[in-house]
Amino acid sequence: MSARPFTFWRVLPLPGEPASSYFSRLVMDECSYLPENYASEIGINRIFRSDELLERIFLLPISEEYKERLRWWTPVEAKGSVRLAGQIFARGQFRWARNLQCRECVAETPYHRVWWQLECFRTCPVHHCVLEPLAYARTTSGRRWPRFDRVLQERVAHVESGAVHIWESNRRRISPMP
Ligand SMILES: [Zn+2]
Repeated sequence: MSARPFTFWRVLPLPGEPASSYFSRLVMDECSYLPENYASEIGINRIFRSDELLERIFLLPISEEYKERLRWWTPVEAKGSVRLAGQIFARGQFRWARNLQCRECVAETPYHRVWWQLECFRTCPVHHCVLEPLAYARTTSGRRWPRFDRVLQERVAHVESGAVHIWESNRRRISPMP
């Protein structure tokens, strides 16, 4: 059994937030390392596997409710497809290397929303602006460790209902699988 990967777990998983984003925020709350360097130091490959990343994060004593949320919003590789939010996405529908974000979402609450990596989202479902290239995208593998210019403290309650509503209202156009 590995040791806990962090000494603090004051930040909590947010709606729509995948494991790599949550991990990165935990790193930002802990120290000034780049998340990918921190991951390497504790034995997680920079080109991470989501299930391994989740396993390490789940060594933290966060509640089952928050673990379930993180599991739900984390894309997991499954035989060439990606399992996310109870659905299976084909390679062309979910792209690890889709380096887009909504500037306004980030300005409001800086964390990575997993739907930015879905091809069906060309604009932000909240702000209706065109998604823009990420400032922090550096890798070619597509696996990214989001790092924003400020740390989000603890839980951000006002994000909750809005983000889930957005997901639900977009479900219809995401759902039909070829
Ligand atoms: Zn937005």
